[in-house]
Amino acid sequence: MAVVSLPHKQIPLSRSQAPIPFFHQAATFSRLWPVIEAGLHQVADNGKYSHGAQVAELERRLSDYTGAAHVVGVNSGTDALILLLRAGGLAPGDGVVVPAFTFVATATSVVHAGGRPEFADIDPVTHQLCPESAARAITARTRALMPVHLFDRMADMPAFAALARRRGLTLFEDSAEAIGMWQDGRHAGLHGAGGVLSFFPSKTLGAIGDAGAVLTDDPGTAARAAALRHHGRPGSTVDNFPAIRTGSALVGVNSKMDDVQAAVLVAKLTSLEQDIARRAELAAAYTERLTGVPGIRALPGALRPGRDVCYVYVIEVEDRDRLASALTAEGIGTEVYYPVPLHLQPCFAALGHRPGDFPHAEAACRHTIALPLYPDLGLADVDRVCAAIRRFHTGTES
Ligand SMILES: *Cc1c(COP(=O)(O)O)cnc(C)c1O
Repeated sequence: MAVVSLPHKQIPLSRSQAPIPFFHQAATFSRLWPVIEAGLHQVADNGKYSHGAQVAELERRLSDYTGAAHVVGVNSGTDALILLLRAGGLAPGDGVVVPAFTFVATATSVVHAGGRPEFADIDPVTHQLCPESAARAITARTRALMPVHLFDRMADMPAFAALARRRGLTLFEDSAEAIGMWQDGRHAGLHGAGGVLSFFPSKTLGAIGDAGAVLTDDPGTAARAAALRHHGRPGSTVDNFPAIRTGSALVGVNSKMDDVQAAVLVAKLTSLEQDIARRAELAAAYTERLTGVPGIRALPGALRPGRDVCYVYVIEVEDRDRLASALTAEGIGTEVYYPVPLHLQPCFAALGHRPGDFPHAEAACRHTIALPLYPDLGLADVDRVCAAIRRFHTGTES
């Protein structure tokens, strides 16, 4: 038998305690497999393996689901951001205000689109971009605002819409995490010039690889994004062969979506609402069990049904790294979203920021930890994770 060395005082895993990975979806895939398989057969029969009929079908269904006038399927959420910003008219040197606490692609996409990220701090309670800090970050070069909808709720869009109007700025949304999130009757990504979706496997609607989409109500932005994803070919649609002969109107890229991914997403979209409800149930179970545990600085606010979606369940604790190691030793996976604030990442060193510039973003990077949460997770798993967290902080089970 292999001997696993564990930190002192940790009890070795018993046979009944299977590891709880941070994310997996084997059961979801088994359950949906007949539908997925039928879609994959259609892809194989069709012979058009990217930017084909399944992609068009997914775009139609996402348009129905979100209410977006236009959905442009591309090969990742990151590409969706870059193409949205380019299609939305970002010009070289334009500043885009983004939060310092988010996934790095929020800001690198601005650079890829020719712009310059301008960082602002977050609200310490919600972790969303702070409208007052965003207002302070605006410079003479600022052209756009891009709040991010992080973790389980949307940024304060009425405040950002008002700020954009007052200062004559374009409002984009990094809504990569926000499928199923709504504010004032509008889906995330549709509160300004446009937004995106990421279908990275662990996202609320995840593919079996990379995929993403641009969401917009603006026909010009949609047409440019559709052309850019396909080498800049005008009128780029599933049946665009005649258009190829006219040549490329824009300097595009190859960011077509694979039909295999689209077929998986079409199948998974049928259980999205059920998955969102399951996520809410698990999030509520975590909050109930973790309320009052010493060492926990903050738990997520209650989810508002029909508005918020728990994409990841993030808590704030005093000693994040030691808790993460203790949970790892018990076979429980966790993740840190995000360990380094963007203004202190080496790739943005030229912007000249220092520690202390955005204290709430820096504190979030030190204290937040995401716990396992996905439709395949059981309530007994939540119990085990919470018992381990309590044991870490109090040395007792109850
Ligand atoms: C996941 C994510 C992205 C990037 O999406 P990919 O599909 O992984 O390229 C961008 N921004 C945020 C906030 C994300 O969570």
